[in-house]
Amino acid sequence: MLGRKKRNDDEAGDLEGRIVAWRRHLHAHPELSYEEHETTDYVEARLRDLGLKPRRFELGTGLWCDVPAAKGAAATDVVGLRADIDALPMDEDSGLDFASTVEGVSHTCGHDGHTAMLLGAAEMLVADPPPRPVRLIFQPAEETMPGGALDCVREGAVEGVDRILALHCDPHRKVGEVGVTAGGITSSNAKLRLRVTGAGGHTARPHETQDVVHALATVAAGLPAVLSRRVDPRSGTVLTWGAISAGGEAPNVIPDSGELIGTLRSADRDVWAEVEPLVREAVDQLAAPYGVGVELEYTQGVPPVVNDDECADLAARAVESVLGPEGVGPAEQSSGGEDFAWYTEEIPGVYLRLGVWDGESDETDLHHPGFLLDEAALIHGARILDAFARLDRSGDARPAG
Ligand SMILES: [Zn+2]
Ligand SMILES: [Zn+2]
Repeated sequence: MLGRKKRNDDEAGDLEGRIVAWRRHLHAHPELSYEEHETTDYVEARLRDLGLKPRRFELGTGLWCDVPAAKGAAATDVVGLRADIDALPMDEDSGLDFASTVEGVSHTCGHDGHTAMLLGAAEMLVADPPPRPVRLIFQPAEETMPGGALDCVREGAVEGVDRILALHCDPHRKVGEVGVTAGGITSSNAKLRLRVTGAGGHTARPHETQDVVHALATVAAGLPAVLSRRVDPRSGTVLTWGAISAGGEAPNVIPDSGELIGTLRSADRDVWAEVEPLVREAVDQLAAPYGVGVELEYTQGVPPVVNDDECADLAARAVESVLGPEGVGPAEQSSGGEDFAWYTEEIPGVYLRLGVWDGESDETDLHHPGFLLDEAALIHGARILDAFARLDRSGDARPAG
């Protein structure tokens, strides 16, 4: 197996070595969203080795697994820990000797590391049972819209869970530092697909046609402008088009249809929930004078992840217990989306940014073919997950209700 020869000593020995070996195996065998069958088998086998009883999601991939509390501990105040397990549809160009063995699929978002860290935490929690039950969620399909988390929530993954934590690799932060912030930490997204139709014709006589090209251009420029005046600019709302298409090669033919696709993001949960009618109204009114037919497909994506104050506090304590006070850093709200939001819509939660940059190499980015993570970060992550599960809320080990 690629890259595993060197790890034999570690695999037989310490937990850190095992986490690295699991991560390398997963890295070499990435699977796309909703197709994580072998990954799920691999995780399930490790958990069964620990004597746990994982339960696969009905959707076919991913699983959840309860770690029982220590003998005599109350079966309340359940903590959830979540790892995402899917890879991306892209080639890897990392130069690693355990690089992806699957053409066109690679772990360039670090979910292999997330999975291995949660397996490491499972081992720690079984070796030294926690003061409360812990639910481990190995979730499929984070890289889709609206995301596998929504399926997991619908299947009851967080029923009875009081709070939840997830870590994400941050390649712009040094190993040994973790970003912890209360409030918004990621942004919402929605996908827009606008199809415009009309009677095409000769460009010499546009008045006898319904000019879809001009109509599309008007909406492309006008809709972001309308939103900038109708939505509070402090909400960090941005509409960006990814593609515009209409017509063929002829400069003198007005086509009869065209399309515009893009994404609408916001740092504000209320905007995510309420902006769709405004978008529809603006599209209709911008296109109306052209007499064209307009069909807007608005696919609602994830809301922003909003870190709960108390959970962020607990997480900072967990990070501090592993890395010291200098390990706790601030984290800015990103404009990217993250389906962990579907859990935090249901229960309080916190999403952390785990530093994986070695401090020397050129910084790489997530979703980049050359993405690298320093494996020294993995044991930190596993210990933080374990520590968070052991912490009592505000000095109250058995909260009522
Ligand atoms: Zn990603
Ligand atoms: Zn990711």
